[in-house]
Amino acid sequence: MRHKKYGFLLGLFGCLGICFPLMGFESHVAIVATVNAAKNNLHCSQAIRIYNSVSTPQTRFYFLVDNSSETKNPFLSALAEARMYPHGFDSARTLIQDVTVEGSGEQLTVQFVDSERLFRIQKFSTAHSLFFVDTLQPVASGQAITFNIHFMVQIPFSRIMADSSVFQDSLRVRFLWYPINVTVEDNHWRLDHAVLTAHYLDKLELITPISFDVAIAGDAVHTFQASGMTHTISTFTNPVKTCAFQLDSGYSVERSNSNTGIIVEVHYPKKTARLRSRARHYAEYATEVLEAYSQKYGPCPVQRVVICDAPQSGIWGMAADGFIFLGNHFFETADSLSSRYFDPLHNYVLAHELAHLWAGVGSTVDFSRENYLSEGLADYMAVDYFESRFGRYRNLLPMATYQYTILTNLLGGYVLPPHSFTLRDLSQYRYCQAVRRGWDQPLVLPFEESQHQVDLVRNYDKGQGFFRMLSAYIGSDSFENGLRDYFLSTRISPG
Ligand SMILES: [Zn+2]
Repeated sequence: MRHKKYGFLLGLFGCLGICFPLMGFESHVAIVATVNAAKNNLHCSQAIRIYNSVSTPQTRFYFLVDNSSETKNPFLSALAEARMYPHGFDSARTLIQDVTVEGSGEQLTVQFVDSERLFRIQKFSTAHSLFFVDTLQPVASGQAITFNIHFMVQIPFSRIMADSSVFQDSLRVRFLWYPINVTVEDNHWRLDHAVLTAHYLDKLELITPISFDVAIAGDAVHTFQASGMTHTISTFTNPVKTCAFQLDSGYSVERSNSNTGIIVEVHYPKKTARLRSRARHYAEYATEVLEAYSQKYGPCPVQRVVICDAPQSGIWGMAADGFIFLGNHFFETADSLSSRYFDPLHNYVLAHELAHLWAGVGSTVDFSRENYLSEGLADYMAVDYFESRFGRYRNLLPMATYQYTILTNLLGGYVLPPHSFTLRDLSQYRYCQAVRRGWDQPLVLPFEESQHQVDLVRNYDKGQGFFRMLSAYIGSDSFENGLRDYFLSTRISPG
Protein backbone atom coordinates (compact mmCIF):
# COMPACT_ATOMS: atom_id res chain seq x y z
CA MET A 1 0.00 0.00 0.00
CA ARG A 2 2.74 2.37 -0.67
CA HIS A 3 0.30 4.86 -1.93
CA LYS A 4 1.35 6.03 -5.17
CA LYS A 5 -1.85 7.13 -6.58
CA TYR A 6 -2.79 6.85 -10.14
CA GLY A 7 0.06 5.51 -12.29
CA PHE A 8 1.81 8.76 -12.74
CA LEU A 9 0.96 10.56 -9.50
CA LEU A 10 3.64 9.45 -7.30
CA GLY A 11 4.19 8.12 -4.24
CA LEU A 12 5.18 3.10 -2.04
CA PHE A 13 1.67 -0.27 3.58
CA GLY A 14 -14.88 -4.07 12.48
CA CYS A 15 -14.82 -6.64 14.24
CA LEU A 16 -18.64 -6.39 13.57
CA GLY A 17 -19.31 -8.58 16.49
CA ILE A 18 -17.31 -11.48 15.13
CA CYS A 19 -15.46 -13.44 17.75
CA PHE A 20 -12.13 -14.69 16.57
CA PRO A 21 -9.90 -15.94 19.37
CA LEU A 22 -9.39 -19.24 17.59
CA MET A 23 -8.38 -17.69 14.29
CA GLY A 24 -5.02 -16.37 15.42
CA PHE A 25 -3.32 -14.20 17.97
CA GLU A 26 -5.93 -11.65 18.92
CA SER A 27 -4.15 -8.70 20.43
CA HIS A 28 -5.05 -5.54 22.32
CA VAL A 29 -2.77 -2.50 22.35
CA ALA A 30 -2.63 0.59 24.60
CA ILE A 31 0.04 3.26 24.11
CA VAL A 32 1.16 6.49 25.76
CA ALA A 33 3.39 8.51 23.40
CA THR A 34 5.11 11.78 24.32
CA VAL A 35 6.35 14.01 21.52
CA ASN A 36 9.72 15.72 21.90
CA ALA A 37 9.38 18.37 19.20
CA ALA A 38 12.94 19.66 19.59
CA LYS A 39 14.37 16.24 18.76
CA ASN A 40 11.68 15.01 16.35
CA ASN A 41 11.02 11.91 18.39
CA LEU A 42 8.36 10.11 20.42
CA HIS A 43 8.93 8.34 23.74
CA CYS A 44 6.41 5.57 24.08
CA SER A 45 5.13 3.05 26.56
CA GLN A 46 2.96 0.26 25.16
CA ALA A 47 1.02 -2.61 26.65
CA ILE A 48 0.17 -5.38 24.20
CA ARG A 49 -2.00 -8.27 25.33
CA ILE A 50 -1.81 -11.29 23.09
CA TYR A 51 -4.03 -14.36 23.24
CA ASN A 52 -2.42 -17.61 22.28
CA SER A 53 -4.91 -19.09 19.89
CA VAL A 54 -2.48 -21.57 18.40
CA SER A 55 -3.26 -25.10 19.50
CA THR A 56 0.07 -25.53 21.34
CA PRO A 57 1.68 -23.58 24.25
CA GLN A 58 3.89 -20.72 23.11
CA THR A 59 7.07 -19.30 24.60
CA ARG A 60 8.21 -17.27 21.59
CA PHE A 61 6.36 -14.17 20.36
CA TYR A 62 7.26 -12.25 17.21
CA PHE A 63 6.80 -8.53 16.61
CA LEU A 64 7.19 -6.19 13.68
CA VAL A 65 8.23 -2.53 13.45
CA ASP A 66 9.31 -0.59 10.38
CA ASN A 67 13.05 0.01 10.51
CA SER A 68 13.47 -0.35 6.76
CA SER A 69 14.77 3.23 6.50
CA GLU A 70 17.03 3.04 9.51
CA THR A 71 20.20 2.94 7.43
CA LYS A 72 21.10 4.67 4.20
CA ASN A 73 20.21 3.05 0.91
CA PRO A 74 23.69 2.19 -0.44
CA PHE A 75 22.33 1.75 -3.97
CA LEU A 76 20.94 5.26 -4.24
CA SER A 77 22.90 8.07 -5.89
CA ALA A 78 23.74 11.14 -3.81
CA LEU A 79 21.49 13.19 -6.10
CA ALA A 80 18.48 10.92 -5.60
CA GLU A 81 19.08 10.88 -1.87
CA ALA A 82 19.31 14.67 -1.71
CA ARG A 83 15.82 14.87 -3.21
CA MET A 84 14.49 13.06 -0.16
CA TYR A 85 16.80 14.37 2.55
CA PRO A 86 17.83 17.95 1.78
CA HIS A 87 19.91 18.12 4.97
CA GLY A 88 21.54 14.76 4.38
CA PHE A 89 20.29 11.26 5.22
CA ASP A 90 18.10 11.16 8.32
CA SER A 91 17.36 7.80 9.90
CA ALA A 92 13.75 6.70 10.55
CA ARG A 93 13.67 4.16 13.35
CA THR A 94 11.78 2.62 16.21
CA LEU A 95 14.26 1.72 18.93
CA ILE A 96 13.03 -0.99 21.32
CA GLN A 97 14.33 -0.10 24.78
CA ASP A 98 12.92 -2.88 26.93
CA VAL A 99 10.22 -5.55 27.04
CA THR A 100 8.80 -6.88 30.30
CA VAL A 101 5.97 -9.25 31.19
CA GLU A 102 3.13 -7.59 33.03
CA GLY A 103 2.54 -9.12 36.43
CA SER A 104 5.86 -10.88 36.94
CA GLY A 105 7.92 -7.91 35.73
CA GLU A 106 10.20 -10.42 34.04
CA GLN A 107 12.59 -8.59 31.72
CA LEU A 108 12.90 -10.26 28.32
CA THR A 109 15.77 -10.23 25.87
CA VAL A 110 14.87 -8.67 22.51
CA GLN A 111 16.33 -10.68 19.64
CA PHE A 112 16.16 -9.45 16.07
CA VAL A 113 15.75 -11.68 13.03
CA ASP A 114 16.76 -10.44 9.60
CA SER A 115 13.57 -9.46 7.81
CA GLU A 116 14.77 -10.01 4.24
CA ARG A 117 12.06 -12.66 3.81
CA LEU A 118 9.43 -10.06 4.56
CA PHE A 119 10.95 -7.25 2.52
CA ARG A 120 11.84 -9.60 -0.36
CA ILE A 121 13.87 -7.33 -2.60
CA GLN A 122 15.25 -4.79 -0.16
CA LYS A 123 18.84 -5.69 0.64
CA PHE A 124 19.67 -3.04 3.21
CA SER A 125 18.27 -1.94 6.56
CA THR A 126 16.65 -5.33 7.16
CA ALA A 127 18.26 -6.07 10.54
CA HIS A 128 15.90 -4.41 13.03
CA SER A 129 12.32 -4.75 11.80
CA LEU A 130 11.47 -8.25 13.04
CA PHE A 131 12.13 -9.34 16.63
CA PHE A 132 11.05 -11.95 19.12
CA VAL A 133 11.06 -12.47 22.87
CA ASP A 134 11.09 -15.79 24.73
CA THR A 135 9.02 -16.03 27.89
CA LEU A 136 10.15 -18.13 30.87
CA GLN A 137 6.71 -19.64 31.35
CA PRO A 138 4.87 -21.07 28.37
CA VAL A 139 1.57 -19.40 27.52
CA ALA A 140 -1.06 -22.12 27.16
CA SER A 141 -3.43 -22.26 24.24
CA GLY A 142 -6.36 -19.93 24.91
CA GLN A 143 -4.41 -17.96 27.54
CA ALA A 144 -3.21 -14.39 27.26
CA ILE A 145 0.02 -12.60 28.11
CA THR A 146 0.65 -8.87 28.33
CA PHE A 147 3.98 -7.39 27.33
CA ASN A 148 5.04 -3.88 28.33
CA ILE A 149 7.29 -2.34 25.71
CA HIS A 150 9.21 0.91 25.97
CA PHE A 151 10.43 2.36 22.71
CA MET A 152 11.54 5.54 21.02
CA VAL A 153 10.50 6.61 17.52
CA GLN A 154 12.87 8.88 15.63
CA ILE A 155 11.18 10.75 12.78
CA PRO A 156 13.35 11.87 9.88
CA PHE A 157 13.38 15.24 8.18
CA SER A 158 12.19 14.29 4.71
CA ARG A 159 10.60 16.16 1.89
CA ILE A 160 8.98 13.23 0.14
CA MET A 161 5.79 11.44 1.00
CA ALA A 162 6.92 8.84 3.51
CA ASP A 163 5.31 6.98 6.36
CA SER A 164 7.12 9.01 8.96
CA SER A 165 8.37 12.48 8.23
CA VAL A 166 9.10 15.90 9.64
CA PHE A 167 8.76 18.69 7.10
CA GLN A 168 8.13 22.40 7.43
CA ASP A 169 6.33 22.65 10.77
CA SER A 170 4.56 19.30 10.69
CA LEU A 171 5.38 15.82 11.96
CA ARG A 172 3.60 12.62 10.95
CA VAL A 173 3.60 8.85 11.41
CA ARG A 174 1.57 6.19 9.66
CA PHE A 175 2.18 2.40 9.77
CA LEU A 176 4.37 0.27 12.06
CA TRP A 177 5.72 3.08 14.21
CA TYR A 178 4.79 0.92 17.22
CA PRO A 179 5.39 -2.83 17.45
CA ILE A 180 2.57 -5.19 16.51
CA ASN A 181 2.55 -8.96 16.71
CA VAL A 182 3.42 -10.82 13.52
CA THR A 183 0.52 -12.54 11.83
CA VAL A 184 -0.26 -16.21 12.41
CA GLU A 185 -1.68 -18.55 9.81
CA ASP A 186 -2.32 -22.29 9.98
CA ASN A 187 -0.90 -22.39 13.51
CA HIS A 188 2.41 -20.81 12.45
CA TRP A 189 4.01 -17.40 12.61
CA ARG A 190 4.13 -16.02 9.07
CA LEU A 191 7.60 -14.53 8.82
CA ASP A 192 7.55 -14.36 5.03
CA HIS A 193 4.26 -12.52 4.46
CA ALA A 194 4.06 -8.73 4.30
CA VAL A 195 0.82 -8.65 6.28
CA LEU A 196 -0.04 -6.01 8.86
CA THR A 197 -1.85 -7.68 11.75
CA ALA A 198 -5.11 -6.06 12.75
CA HIS A 199 -5.29 -5.48 16.51
CA TYR A 200 -7.62 -3.73 18.91
CA LEU A 201 -6.12 -0.36 19.67
CA ASP A 202 -7.82 0.17 23.00
CA LYS A 203 -6.20 3.56 23.52
CA LEU A 204 -3.53 5.85 22.20
CA GLU A 205 -2.69 8.78 24.45
CA LEU A 206 -0.59 11.33 22.61
CA ILE A 207 1.13 14.03 24.68
CA THR A 208 2.25 17.05 22.66
CA PRO A 209 3.51 20.59 23.31
CA ILE A 210 0.53 22.97 23.34
CA SER A 211 2.01 24.85 20.39
CA PHE A 212 0.94 21.94 18.15
CA ASP A 213 -2.46 21.12 16.70
CA VAL A 214 -3.14 17.39 16.42
CA ALA A 215 -4.84 15.61 13.52
CA ILE A 216 -5.27 12.03 14.69
CA ALA A 217 -7.26 8.97 13.59
CA GLY A 218 -9.76 7.38 15.96
CA ASP A 219 -13.47 6.66 16.27
CA ALA A 220 -13.59 8.77 19.43
CA VAL A 221 -11.03 11.45 20.31
CA HIS A 222 -10.89 13.70 23.32
CA THR A 223 -8.39 16.27 24.45
CA PHE A 224 -7.34 17.95 27.69
CA GLN A 225 -4.39 20.01 28.88
CA ALA A 226 -2.20 19.18 31.86
CA SER A 227 1.24 20.45 32.96
CA GLY A 228 1.58 22.64 29.90
CA MET A 229 1.03 19.76 27.46
CA THR A 230 -1.92 18.69 25.33
CA HIS A 231 -3.16 15.14 25.89
CA THR A 232 -5.11 13.64 22.99
CA ILE A 233 -6.77 10.29 23.60
CA SER A 234 -7.88 8.23 20.65
CA THR A 235 -9.83 4.98 20.69
CA PHE A 236 -11.18 2.65 17.99
CA THR A 237 -14.08 0.23 18.19
CA ASN A 238 -12.96 -2.26 15.55
CA PRO A 239 -9.50 -3.76 15.00
CA VAL A 240 -7.04 -1.53 13.12
CA LYS A 241 -3.53 -1.77 11.74
CA THR A 242 -2.27 1.54 13.04
CA CYS A 243 -3.21 4.91 14.46
CA ALA A 244 -1.81 7.58 12.14
CA PHE A 245 -1.44 11.21 13.15
CA GLN A 246 0.08 14.47 12.03
CA LEU A 247 1.04 17.45 14.16
CA ASP A 248 1.20 20.94 12.79
CA SER A 249 1.61 24.44 14.17
CA GLY A 250 -1.91 25.40 13.13
CA TYR A 251 -4.88 23.59 11.62
CA SER A 252 -8.37 24.66 10.78
CA VAL A 253 -10.99 21.93 10.58
CA GLU A 254 -14.08 21.46 8.42
CA ARG A 255 -16.54 18.75 9.52
CA SER A 256 -19.31 16.80 7.85
CA ASN A 257 -21.52 13.92 9.01
CA SER A 258 -22.70 11.15 6.73
CA ASN A 259 -26.20 9.75 6.94
CA THR A 260 -24.58 6.45 8.00
CA GLY A 261 -23.09 8.11 11.08
CA ILE A 262 -19.51 8.57 9.85
CA ILE A 263 -17.81 11.81 10.84
CA VAL A 264 -15.44 13.38 8.30
CA GLU A 265 -12.93 16.00 9.40
CA VAL A 266 -10.68 17.88 7.00
CA HIS A 267 -7.60 19.40 8.67
CA TYR A 268 -5.92 22.09 6.61
CA PRO A 269 -3.51 24.98 7.14
CA LYS A 270 -4.95 28.20 8.50
CA LYS A 271 -4.61 30.52 5.56
CA THR A 272 -7.10 31.95 3.15
CA ALA A 273 -10.88 31.81 2.80
CA ARG A 274 -10.35 29.93 -0.45
CA LEU A 275 -8.72 27.12 1.50
CA ARG A 276 -11.77 26.92 3.71
CA SER A 277 -14.08 26.49 0.75
CA ARG A 278 -11.75 23.85 -0.68
CA ALA A 279 -11.71 21.97 2.66
CA ARG A 280 -15.50 22.25 2.79
CA HIS A 281 -15.69 20.66 -0.65
CA TYR A 282 -13.48 17.72 0.37
CA ALA A 283 -15.47 17.18 3.58
CA GLU A 284 -18.80 17.04 1.75
CA TYR A 285 -17.45 15.07 -1.20
CA ALA A 286 -15.79 12.48 1.09
CA THR A 287 -19.05 12.12 3.00
CA GLU A 288 -20.90 11.32 -0.22
CA VAL A 289 -18.23 8.84 -1.32
CA LEU A 290 -18.31 7.07 2.06
CA GLU A 291 -22.11 6.82 1.91
CA ALA A 292 -21.94 5.31 -1.58
CA TYR A 293 -19.22 2.84 -0.58
CA SER A 294 -21.06 1.84 2.61
CA GLN A 295 -24.15 1.09 0.57
CA LYS A 296 -22.31 -1.02 -2.00
CA TYR A 297 -19.54 -2.65 0.00
CA GLY A 298 -20.84 -2.89 3.56
CA PRO A 299 -20.29 -0.73 6.63
CA CYS A 300 -17.24 1.46 6.87
CA PRO A 301 -14.75 -0.12 9.32
CA VAL A 302 -14.24 3.22 11.11
CA GLN A 303 -16.71 5.76 12.44
CA ARG A 304 -14.55 8.84 11.91
CA VAL A 305 -12.32 9.74 8.96
CA VAL A 306 -9.66 12.45 9.12
CA ILE A 307 -8.45 13.96 5.84
CA CYS A 308 -5.27 15.91 6.38
CA ASP A 309 -3.13 18.19 4.25
CA ALA A 310 0.48 16.96 4.17
CA PRO A 311 3.13 19.61 3.56
CA GLN A 312 4.85 17.68 0.77
CA SER A 313 3.66 18.86 -2.60
CA GLY A 314 2.14 16.78 -5.38
CA ILE A 315 -1.09 14.97 -6.25
CA TRP A 316 -0.84 11.95 -4.02
CA GLY A 317 -2.62 10.36 -1.12
CA MET A 318 -1.86 7.82 1.61
CA ALA A 319 -4.50 5.95 3.58
CA ALA A 320 -4.47 4.44 7.04
CA ASP A 321 -7.25 3.37 9.40
CA GLY A 322 -9.58 6.38 9.52
CA PHE A 323 -6.93 8.69 8.12
CA ILE A 324 -6.12 10.04 4.64
CA PHE A 325 -3.02 12.14 3.98
CA LEU A 326 -3.29 14.34 0.90
CA GLY A 327 -0.38 15.93 -0.95
CA ASN A 328 -0.28 19.70 -0.70
CA HIS A 329 -1.46 20.11 -4.29
CA PHE A 330 -5.02 19.47 -3.06
CA PHE A 331 -4.90 22.69 -1.06
CA GLU A 332 -2.26 24.92 -2.60
CA THR A 333 -4.18 25.01 -5.91
CA ALA A 334 -7.07 26.72 -4.08
CA ASP A 335 -5.07 29.92 -4.42
CA SER A 336 -4.40 29.52 -8.14
CA LEU A 337 -6.29 31.44 -10.82
CA SER A 338 -8.09 28.37 -12.13
CA SER A 339 -8.66 26.81 -8.75
CA ARG A 340 -11.25 24.24 -9.90
CA TYR A 341 -9.19 23.01 -12.83
CA PHE A 342 -7.91 19.94 -11.02
CA ASP A 343 -11.20 19.08 -9.30
CA PRO A 344 -11.88 15.85 -11.22
CA LEU A 345 -8.34 14.62 -10.59
CA HIS A 346 -8.49 15.53 -6.89
CA ASN A 347 -11.93 13.92 -6.58
CA TYR A 348 -10.72 10.73 -8.18
CA VAL A 349 -7.59 10.45 -6.00
CA LEU A 350 -9.58 11.13 -2.82
CA ALA A 351 -12.15 8.47 -3.84
CA HIS A 352 -9.26 6.02 -4.34
CA GLU A 353 -7.83 6.73 -0.88
CA LEU A 354 -11.24 6.46 0.78
CA ALA A 355 -11.71 3.08 -0.95
CA HIS A 356 -8.65 1.84 0.95
CA LEU A 357 -10.68 2.06 4.16
CA TRP A 358 -12.29 -1.10 2.74
CA ALA A 359 -9.56 -2.46 0.42
CA GLY A 360 -6.00 -2.91 1.70
CA VAL A 361 -6.34 -1.03 4.98
CA GLY A 362 -9.70 -2.46 6.00
CA SER A 363 -8.94 -5.95 4.63
CA THR A 364 -6.11 -8.41 5.04
CA VAL A 365 -3.64 -8.36 2.16
CA ASP A 366 -0.16 -9.82 1.70
CA PHE A 367 1.44 -6.79 0.10
CA SER A 368 4.42 -8.76 -1.14
CA ARG A 369 2.39 -10.85 -3.59
CA GLU A 370 -1.21 -9.65 -3.93
CA ASN A 371 -1.14 -5.87 -3.80
CA TYR A 372 -3.79 -5.78 -6.56
CA LEU A 373 -6.30 -6.69 -3.83
CA SER A 374 -5.42 -3.33 -2.30
CA GLU A 375 -4.60 -1.05 -5.23
CA GLY A 376 -6.59 -2.67 -8.05
CA LEU A 377 -9.67 -3.00 -5.89
CA ALA A 378 -9.40 0.54 -4.50
CA ASP A 379 -9.06 1.79 -8.05
CA TYR A 380 -12.04 -0.26 -9.22
CA MET A 381 -14.16 1.28 -6.44
CA ALA A 382 -12.91 4.81 -7.17
CA VAL A 383 -13.42 4.58 -10.94
CA ASP A 384 -16.85 3.00 -10.49
CA TYR A 385 -17.83 5.83 -8.15
CA PHE A 386 -16.31 8.52 -10.36
CA GLU A 387 -18.11 7.26 -13.45
CA SER A 388 -21.47 6.88 -11.71
CA ARG A 389 -21.15 10.36 -10.22
CA PHE A 390 -19.62 12.33 -13.09
CA GLY A 391 -20.40 10.19 -16.12
CA ARG A 392 -18.59 7.49 -18.03
CA TYR A 393 -17.02 9.89 -20.52
CA ARG A 394 -16.12 12.64 -18.07
CA ASN A 395 -12.56 13.67 -18.71
CA LEU A 396 -10.05 13.98 -15.92
CA LEU A 397 -9.34 17.57 -16.82
CA PRO A 398 -11.67 20.01 -18.54
CA MET A 399 -11.05 20.34 -22.25
CA ALA A 400 -8.91 23.40 -22.81
CA THR A 401 -6.18 24.33 -25.21
CA TYR A 402 -3.46 24.04 -22.61
CA GLN A 403 -4.82 20.82 -21.15
CA TYR A 404 -2.65 18.60 -23.23
CA THR A 405 0.50 20.44 -22.21
CA ILE A 406 -0.35 20.33 -18.52
CA LEU A 407 -1.27 16.68 -18.62
CA THR A 408 1.80 15.62 -20.49
CA ASN A 409 3.93 17.63 -18.07
CA LEU A 410 2.22 15.91 -15.19
CA LEU A 411 2.64 12.53 -16.78
CA GLY A 412 6.32 12.93 -17.41
CA GLY A 413 7.27 10.39 -20.04
CA TYR A 414 3.76 9.26 -20.92
CA VAL A 415 2.37 10.13 -24.30
CA LEU A 416 -1.38 10.33 -24.35
CA PRO A 417 -3.82 9.70 -27.14
CA PRO A 418 -5.49 13.09 -27.72
CA HIS A 419 -8.96 13.63 -26.25
CA SER A 420 -8.82 10.50 -24.16
CA PHE A 421 -8.30 11.53 -20.61
CA THR A 422 -11.03 9.45 -19.04
CA LEU A 423 -9.99 7.13 -16.24
CA ARG A 424 -10.74 4.00 -18.25
CA ASP A 425 -8.85 5.23 -21.28
CA LEU A 426 -5.77 6.16 -19.30
CA SER A 427 -5.77 2.94 -17.39
CA GLN A 428 -6.26 0.81 -20.48
CA TYR A 429 -3.66 2.78 -22.38
CA ARG A 430 -1.00 2.19 -19.76
CA TYR A 431 -1.84 -1.50 -19.55
CA CYS A 432 -1.76 -1.94 -23.34
CA GLN A 433 1.64 -0.27 -23.45
CA ALA A 434 2.96 -2.75 -20.89
CA VAL A 435 1.51 -5.71 -22.83
CA ARG A 436 2.97 -4.44 -26.11
CA ARG A 437 6.40 -4.25 -24.54
CA GLY A 438 6.15 -7.81 -23.23
CA TRP A 439 5.92 -6.78 -19.58
CA ASP A 440 2.57 -8.27 -18.76
CA GLN A 441 2.60 -10.61 -15.75
CA PRO A 442 0.04 -12.42 -13.57
CA LEU A 443 -1.71 -10.34 -10.93
CA VAL A 444 -0.67 -12.67 -8.10
CA LEU A 445 3.09 -12.79 -8.12
CA PRO A 446 5.84 -12.73 -5.49
CA PHE A 447 7.37 -9.28 -5.41
CA GLU A 448 10.85 -10.57 -6.22
CA GLU A 449 9.60 -12.10 -9.49
CA SER A 450 7.80 -9.04 -10.78
CA GLN A 451 8.88 -6.52 -13.40
CA HIS A 452 9.18 -3.56 -11.07
CA GLN A 453 9.06 -0.94 -13.79
CA VAL A 454 5.42 -1.92 -14.41
CA ASP A 455 4.37 -2.94 -10.89
CA LEU A 456 2.08 0.06 -10.73
CA VAL A 457 0.45 -0.78 -14.05
CA ARG A 458 -0.03 -4.40 -12.99
CA ASN A 459 -1.45 -3.67 -9.53
CA TYR A 460 -3.53 -0.58 -10.36
CA ASP A 461 -4.48 -0.72 -14.03
CA LYS A 462 -4.56 -4.43 -14.73
CA GLY A 463 -6.02 -4.96 -11.24
CA GLN A 464 -8.80 -2.46 -11.88
CA GLY A 465 -9.47 -3.91 -15.35
CA PHE A 466 -9.61 -7.42 -13.91
CA PHE A 467 -12.25 -6.44 -11.36
CA ARG A 468 -14.26 -4.59 -13.98
CA MET A 469 -14.16 -7.61 -16.25
CA LEU A 470 -15.28 -9.85 -13.38
CA SER A 471 -18.10 -7.45 -12.57
CA ALA A 472 -19.24 -7.42 -16.20
CA TYR A 473 -19.04 -11.20 -16.37
CA ILE A 474 -21.04 -12.09 -13.25
CA GLY A 475 -23.15 -8.90 -13.06
CA SER A 476 -22.46 -5.88 -10.92
CA ASP A 477 -24.99 -6.82 -8.22
CA SER A 478 -23.46 -10.25 -7.67
CA PHE A 479 -20.00 -8.75 -7.82
CA GLU A 480 -20.79 -6.13 -5.19
CA ASN A 481 -22.42 -8.74 -2.94
CA GLY A 482 -19.27 -10.81 -3.27
CA LEU A 483 -17.10 -7.83 -2.41
CA ARG A 484 -19.21 -7.11 0.65
CA ASP A 485 -18.66 -10.68 1.88
CA TYR A 486 -14.96 -10.47 1.07
CA PHE A 487 -14.48 -7.25 3.04
CA LEU A 488 -16.35 -8.59 6.04
CA SER A 489 -14.47 -11.88 6.05
CA THR A 490 -10.98 -10.36 5.71
CA ARG A 491 -11.55 -7.36 7.92
CA ILE A 492 -9.87 -9.04 10.82
CA SER A 493 -6.48 -10.40 10.07
CA PRO A 494 -6.51 -14.13 10.53
CA GLY A 495 -3.24 -13.64 12.36
ZN1 LIG B 1 -3.78 3.25 -3.28
